[in-house]
Amino acid sequence: MNALEITGFTKSYGDFIAVDNLSLTIPKGEFFGFLGPNGAGKSTTIHSIVGINRFEKGAIEVFGTDVQKQYKKARAFVGHSPQEFNIDIFLPVTKILWYVGGFFGMARKDKTARIEELLGIFELDKHKHKQFRQLSGGLKRRVMLARALMHDPELLILDEPTAGVDVELRNELHIYLKRINEEGKTILLTSHYLEEVEKLCDQLAVIVDGKLVKQGTKKDIIGSAASLEEAYLAITANKTRTV
Ligand code: ADP
Ligand code: MG
Repeated sequence: MNALEITGFTKSYGDFIAVDNLSLTIPKGEFFGFLGPNGAGKSTTIHSIVGINRFEKGAIEVFGTDVQKQYKKARAFVGHSPQEFNIDIFLPVTKILWYVGGFFGMARKDKTARIEELLGIFELDKHKHKQFRQLSGGLKRRVMLARALMHDPELLILDEPTAGVDVELRNELHIYLKRINEEGKTILLTSHYLEEVEKLCDQLAVIVDGKLVKQGTKKDIIGSAASLEEAYLAITANKTRTV
């Protein structure tokens, strides 16, 4: 069973084609790195998977479920930590988690138990009554991750989850993500920290200007380069349109 299957996906904003005929398959259980320079179309693709964007061309299925035709069912498979904080900044941490649990139809006692668990995992106990806006950048990222994980989704989509996060927290997150991946969760990660991607991901895809330019195992993509960063720079060199 594939966790994610994208076929001929094209998304335009007006006349501008942000993602052009993208096809991508992520089998269940993979830790997948979705790479590309700023403006490549990573977030656009992710927003279409989770229903923030509508699209006309192509199809996206999550665990065999069409994300537009069966939005509610497909969405329940997915936990999404967005690049931008799309959150009510006046809400306290527990309420943020409580509401998202409600969105996914969790029972009261399950919500309470899961919130306790996540506050523990992300060391948010001390901060649970604080409003989101009162938290430091690193804590905000932890809340976003906890929110993405609230309904225990099978597919976790992390759009630059470690941007602005200190080395210590980033390391802890890596350990945690590695663990849940080993337990069977499928993870799609976008990140500009290529050493992080190199450490975590097994399969990679690189898009530039909305087009898939490279896909394969980490080993294949690195090839004879010294690091993923070096290989990535060679792949994307001279390909980006001017911004
Ligand atoms: P990435 O996440 O890879 O940096 P995005 O998907 O955010 O790239 O953006 C891809 C392109 O689409 C960029 O040129 C961006 O400016 C454009 N874009 C993204 N969202 C919108 C929008 N809502 N309206 C118009 N253009 C957009
Ligand atoms: Mg983005």
